Amino acid sequence: MKNNEKQEMMKKYIADSAVFIMGNCPVAAADMVTIPQVEDEMKSEEAVFRYGLSKEEGLRVEAVIDAYTDIVKVQASQTRDIEKLSRTDLGVLAKALEYKEKIGDDAVLITDDFAVQNIAARLGIIVMPVMQRVIRDQIVWQKQCIGCFRHFKEGDECPVCGSPLRKKMKKKLKEKPKTI
Ligand SMILES: [Zn+2]
Repeated sequence: MKNNEKQEMMKKYIADSAVFIMGNCPVAAADMVTIPQVEDEMKSEEAVFRYGLSKEEGLRVEAVIDAYTDIVKVQASQTRDIEKLSRTDLGVLAKALEYKEKIGDDAVLITDDFAVQNIAARLGIIVMPVMQRVIRDQIVWQKQCIGCFRHFKEGDECPVCGSPLRKKMKKKLKEKPKTI
């Protein structure tokens, strides 16, 4: 294994809610860490689905350590960003800071929130935006027959066996996920 490959594998990405809400993050779920509070911000069906799928694919969900939240709060109150930050934002920053202490610049915070990015910069945490030019994943809706399990694009009744069709979500990848 080459040195730079090993380096890539050691990277950890701390994901904020937007990663699962936007759904076009190129980082593999197995390389991501998030906090339990993020789940409360999954409002849409798609977001809930992506979050669940990411957990199945190896996303780690770790509790926030209060000592790091305290450091984040001190920084945030100096810039008045604290008014713009939710409990989840503070927690994600605290988790990123914890990883920065463990693995230095291999800890990367994924967020599009300007207030969060601002505090991260003050704490020396590396930030990567969620939004990418190329949308790499897409959720598509399908109908599946509850009787014969055939898939259809639309309709309420199976044209083959006459059973009802139910809505089903499916994630389609346009490109293989990769780490930066
Ligand atoms: Zn059928």
